Amino acid sequence: MRENLINLTYLFASLLFILGLKGLGHPRSAVKGNLLGAFGMFIAIAATLVDRRVLSFELIAFGLAIGSVLGTVMAIKVQMTAMPQLVALFNGLGGVASTFVAGAALYEAQQPSTQQQLLQAIGAGGGPELHFLVATVAAGIVGTVTFTGSVVAFAKLQEIFDWPGFTGVQVLNGLLVAASLGLGVWITVEPSALNVFWMLTLVAGTLGFFLVVPIGGADMPVVIALLNSYSGIAAAASGFVLQNNVLIISGALVGASGIILTQNMCKAMNRSLANVMFAKLGPKAGGSSADEVYGGRVKSTTAEEVAMILESASRVVIVPGYGLAVSQAQHAVRDLTQILEDRGVLVEFAIHPVAGRMPGHMNVLLAEAEIDYDKMKEMDEINPTFGQVDVALVIGANDVVNPLARTDPKSPIAGMPILDVDHARTVIIMKRSLSPGFAGIPNPLFAADNTLMFYGDGKKALLDLNAALKAL
Ligand code: NDP
Repeated sequence: MRENLINLTYLFASLLFILGLKGLGHPRSAVKGNLLGAFGMFIAIAATLVDRRVLSFELIAFGLAIGSVLGTVMAIKVQMTAMPQLVALFNGLGGVASTFVAGAALYEAQQPSTQQQLLQAIGAGGGPELHFLVATVAAGIVGTVTFTGSVVAFAKLQEIFDWPGFTGVQVLNGLLVAASLGLGVWITVEPSALNVFWMLTLVAGTLGFFLVVPIGGADMPVVIALLNSYSGIAAAASGFVLQNNVLIISGALVGASGIILTQNMCKAMNRSLANVMFAKLGPKAGGSSADEVYGGRVKSTTAEEVAMILESASRVVIVPGYGLAVSQAQHAVRDLTQILEDRGVLVEFAIHPVAGRMPGHMNVLLAEAEIDYDKMKEMDEINPTFGQVDVALVIGANDVVNPLARTDPKSPIAGMPILDVDHARTVIIMKRSLSPGFAGIPNPLFAADNTLMFYGDGKKALLDLNAALKAL
């Protein structure tokens, strides 16, 4: 009866996780989705604590207090642009927690006091059952790879570490995979060899380190989504170790959603996961230099001139990018929208799926400034309409509007779907210089006949523009 009640509660919690994930699929329902998921987790934890009475509640309360304080401070203090590294850190901690759970369960299985319990729970033959051992090994390997890989990802994004590794690092990784699996088999054959488990974590930790080391800092958001998936797989494996259904389900959900997100990000960048993991992104030999692309053809403009162009427009599409996030210009762009709408201009936002540095970056940024979701248009919806747009105002975006993706098959962004702003009547680019974006390549859009460059920091330029519009 008691077990049934606990399992029913777990089922309810899992339902809330699934509804929560569904809610996270759209900006409008994301906050509700997040709360549903958090409530599900609260129920799951409460049910587990009630179920396992042997636990020390003082210790749990102590851990909860430390974790809550640290988590709250980090979440409040983190800059939006530093969100990927915070997620990396959280993934890593999730991974290492699974490793410790697996190690502790293996240790416990050797203790005479728990032998009786374990004989009932995990096998009747006097030793742990094979599925318990396989799950322990899986949690140990995947959890530790997630931990060290996430630490490297964090350090690269935080720019405290930028070692690209050495030639042949992939061969070393192959050997480390083989060694991890070999040690895993050893544990399943000889479960009492606890030291082998810790040796396995050492090897898997080295593997996680060298898997992420060669990947460029700018590709880290994709790697973080992948590591997020790994942390889910490790949690699901530790769910099998503990025979806890809700941990298996929530781990599987994280694992699956992480891999879907990874795939979507790769698709939006027109790259394969293998290319992200094993190749470097950057200008390829033979590509045009900045001088060849821009030489004498770039026209600059001023806030007053842009204000006049916008005033005579009837439809304006704003394209936000990474620079809008860096300069924290979301509130200034909301004010610009208001000023233009008051003058009868139709204003919309074109959202590229990989604009910024994390999925949904632009949606979150604009939502923070309370810009209406109805104004945010997905790439597929707005692209066919750029021909009827009077002004495309590109703020701190670069790669996501680079026409080379369409025209140069040798370009590192070749084939990446882009926002077709070059089809608009007038294109205004707001950024500080002609510097390249994430892909490190020049952008011929800046030298196009219908383009004007409005140089400056995103927020400062917008404030100047708003002032100029008000002065008209
Ligand atoms: P880009 O990185 O292509 O360009 C950003 C531009 O912002 C730069 O050229 C820079 O130019 C400008 N900028 C920087 N600071 C400021 C500032 N303070 N004010 C104004 N402008 C500024 O950004 P996009 O958003 O166009 O593209 C995102 C890129 O990131 C894509 O290549 C995508 O593949 C990649 N990526 C995205 C991920 C995601 O999930 N969103 C994940 C991984 C990669 P300047 O220095 O001249 O000002």
